[in-house]
Order: sequence, then C-alpha cells, then structure tokens
Amino acid sequence: MIPFSPPRMDQLIIDEVVATLKSGWITTGPRTKLFEKKLTDYCGNKKTLCLNSATAGLELILRWFGVQEGDEVILPAYTYSATANVIMHCGAKPVFVDVNSDFNISLPAIEKAITPKTKVIMPVDFGGLPCDYEKLNALVRRPEIKALFNASTAEQTQLGRILILADAAHSLGAEIAGKKSGSLTDVSVFSFHAVKNLSTAEGGAIALNLSDGFDNEEIYTKLCIKSLHGQNKDALAKTQKGNWKYDIVEAGYKMNMTDILAAIGLVELDRYEGETLPRRREIFDIYNQGLGKYAWAELPMMENLETGKISSYHLYPLKIKNINEEQRDEIMKHIFDQDVSVNVHFIPVPMMSYYKKLGYSIHDYPETYQQYSREISLPVFFDLSTLQAEKVIQSVVDAVEKVLNFQKN
Ligand SMILES: *Cc1c(COP(=O)(O)O)cnc(C)c1O
Repeated sequence: MIPFSPPRMDQLIIDEVVATLKSGWITTGPRTKLFEKKLTDYCGNKKTLCLNSATAGLELILRWFGVQEGDEVILPAYTYSATANVIMHCGAKPVFVDVNSDFNISLPAIEKAITPKTKVIMPVDFGGLPCDYEKLNALVRRPEIKALFNASTAEQTQLGRILILADAAHSLGAEIAGKKSGSLTDVSVFSFHAVKNLSTAEGGAIALNLSDGFDNEEIYTKLCIKSLHGQNKDALAKTQKGNWKYDIVEAGYKMNMTDILAAIGLVELDRYEGETLPRRREIFDIYNQGLGKYAWAELPMMENLETGKISSYHLYPLKIKNINEEQRDEIMKHIFDQDVSVNVHFIPVPMMSYYKKLGYSIHDYPETYQQYSREISLPVFFDLSTLQAEKVIQSVVDAVEKVLNFQKN
C-alpha cells in the first residue's frame, strides 16, 4: 500500500530527540526558543510563538484580539473544521464565504460578507498556495471598510480595522514575490501536525507580523502568559536561583510546545528548503507530467508567475472534469483497490452535521461544492519514490477510465 503522507522520521531526528531526553530539559525551554528564532529568521516575520497545535494558535489570537459573542469572523467554507471551531469556542459567529477555482477564499465574497460586526478575516492557504494577501491587506485598510469597524477592546481600538489571521497550516515555506508565508499579513498560524509538510508529531506556531504601532515582542510575552495558565513565569524561568515565586494574572490556557517536539522541528526546519520542498516539488512535477496529457485532468496551481506566488507543495489536489460526487467516490474506491491511499481535502465545513444543525447549508457555497465534488488529493511525502509516484498516476488513470467507461485503444 502506498500511504498518503507518512512523516519523515529518520536517525537524525531520533538522535536529536534522544539528546533532548538526556539533556535534563524536556518541556518548553532552550530548544523551543531556538526553534522560534529559526522560524522567524526563515519566514521573515517579526516574532514567533510555538504552541502544541495550530488550532491552539488560532484560538489564542482570537482571544488576544477579544473576539466574543456578537462578533463575526469571515472564513472560507472550504477548510478543515478547526478554522471554524475556534470561532465557536469564542462564542462568535463563523461567516463562511465561497472560494475561487484555486480553492482559496474569494475576495468579492469577503467584501459582501463584511458587516459592522466583523472583527477578523481568516483566509486559508489551501494546499500551500498563499491567498491574495496584497489585496486582502488593502481591503481591510479601505476607508469605507474601516468606517464599519466597531472596536470594543484596547487591541481592536489600536488596530482600528479588521484583523487578518491567516490559517497558514499548509503554507510554511510558500511565498509571494519572494516574501515567505508568515510575513505576508498581520498574523499567520502554521501547523506541525503529523501530516503536514514539517511535522513535530503535533505542534503549531503563531507568526506575529503586526504593524500599526504594535510591539510584537510585547504581544509575544502576553501570548506566552496566556498560553501557559496565565502564569507570569514559565518553568525555565522558575528554575533560576531564588526565582520560585510566581503569580497568575488571568485564567490562561495550556498550549505550550515541549522541547522534545521542538527537537524534531529543528531537524526538519534545517533541511526544509534544501530537501523537503525540492522533493515535494519534484513529485508535483511528476504528477503534472503524467496526468497533464489527459483531457479529464484539471491540474492544481502550484505557481503563478503573474502574482509571484509559489506553493509549499503541501497537497496535490487533482480535479476531474465533469464528474459528480458519486463518481469521485467511485474513482477513489478503484484507486484504493490498487493499493494507493488518496484523500479528499476537505469535506466543506457547512456539510458537517454540527454546522448543518446550526443552519449552514452547502447550497450557499456552490463553488466550494463544485471543487469538493471533483477533488482527489494524491500522496505527497518526502520518501515517495518516483516509481511509486508513477504507480499513483497509473492507478488514477485506470480508475478514471473504469468509472467513466473510456474506450481503451
Ligand atoms: C491541519 C489543519 C489545521 C489544524 O492544525 P493542528 O495543528 O492539527 O491544530 C487547521 N487548519 C487547516 C487548514 C489544517 O489543514
């Protein structure tokens, strides 16, 4: 069986984890701080905080900004449910909007959805392709859009406009015109979950990049406290001689990254640009070449010369032209029958029973459904061999021809 995306766990990682275990410091400490610094250097943003997941990072920023009951947050219908769940946790209302043919959030749809209650927009860099941040950044700064904004916390007053919180779970290493994901807008959140491009088993990071007079160092310190019980000193600071006394300044969360996981992240980040991204790109090229000759295949966008966008090659979302959802499912079954693992990214959030019960309906997001019903994600991972990639292509071709009853010549 060709798996979908197993993590790259080799001797280098094992050695670094063992070194951490033996170092005497296993929770948040020197390795986490080093990982944060290296991520900041890589992404070119202002300050980075590592946490135990991207979901935690997204929620922490919504809480920091004071998002609460009565507020609205705009996000694409085409995302993983975590993007929406964190909005529910805060008691606010998720306002889903439709996407473009590249799976990313539609700007005209956002514009229509903005109301005086809108506090945050959460674009999702689907599959690793960054959203149109230049246009998004300009949109929230337009005088008539700013005039609609109702600030109700000190942070909201200081910003004076809608915050952009990028769900960059897929897009570490992606770029627009030479600027990396993390430095493209106000705040971006990466995921290091087991299936992501760079994995620490579980983990995430908040890339702070606020301007408008914000002190990102100061926000980092606040977020450290908020993510660790509301305690004014972390475990490492408390070990310093005589420094045992601490205070709780708010009812904080428990979201910190451990040094064991940061050790994995440090090894992976070191070889991310030199090994991980080039190999993923090669796999995309093999798929594009093998599938591009079929009229039924709609290949994913991985680069856009016009906008300077380059994907992080996280997902290879193949679309099959002119099929319905049942045919897609049937094609997937035939691919699995040939021992190849494929997936669908994503089942749109409005199709989930919890969100349906809240009154959301996929019928309100026709483009999202259009994409979803024809999408199949192919395996992409560092150790996928060229031979295996060719087997994947063959299994897709066989399955499509079987289901669509193409004549073999
Ligand atoms: C994986 C993922 C998340 C959640 O990441 P975790 O680190 O598992 O919390 C959020 N959004 C998207 C789009 C994802 O794919």
